[in-house]
Amino acid sequence: MLTRRTISSFVAACGLALVLCASGAAQAQEFVYRDGSTRAPTVEEYLKQAGAGAKFVAHGKLTIDGKRVNCGKRPTVINPNFDSWGGAFPGFLILNTKKIAGLSTQVKLYVYSHECGHQFIGANELKADLFAIRRGVKWGWLDAHGIEEICTFISQLKGDAVHPPGPKRCKLMRNRFRELTEGSGQRADSAPPSGAQMLGPPH
Ligand SMILES: [Zn+2]
Repeated sequence: MLTRRTISSFVAACGLALVLCASGAAQAQEFVYRDGSTRAPTVEEYLKQAGAGAKFVAHGKLTIDGKRVNCGKRPTVINPNFDSWGGAFPGFLILNTKKIAGLSTQVKLYVYSHECGHQFIGANELKADLFAIRRGVKWGWLDAHGIEEICTFISQLKGDAVHPPGPKRCKLMRNRFRELTEGSGQRADSAPPSGAQMLGPPH
């Protein structure tokens, strides 16, 4: 449950400087609500502003490369014109399916889960990263190969006012992955042979 305070800090960081943000070259997108205010839009308001290309996907209906995903009961807005891979406002997620199209399945799931993390832990980017890694291990879609793909992806990002540099994010996620998978019989520090099973749930 987001407290009022959490929501306002969330809005400040994620609403103004949207989120998984931006390639090394691009700046974090500033979401400025049409009337000039910076309060977070409702999903209806966001859809209206995003225009014809945007699509509402109810919770429970979203699949990523055939895998059903959810973020509690939160819906997702698919927006091919969004500046980043994904974004989050309190109560809903944004996914740019056009921009994530070239990413591997595990990186796509990381993007979605990172944005989902903001729904639960607020604006902190590193915590949202770790939320995604924990989820990936727990739900069984993240393996040692995937963590390296995520690292390759994120390490290109230089960071900005709210996002630490990509290599730092990579290191923290890799460490968390190791912690979570140690003793599971999987080697976390090298890619498994192709066709290896993904990590199963912890029990
Ligand atoms: Zn983020």
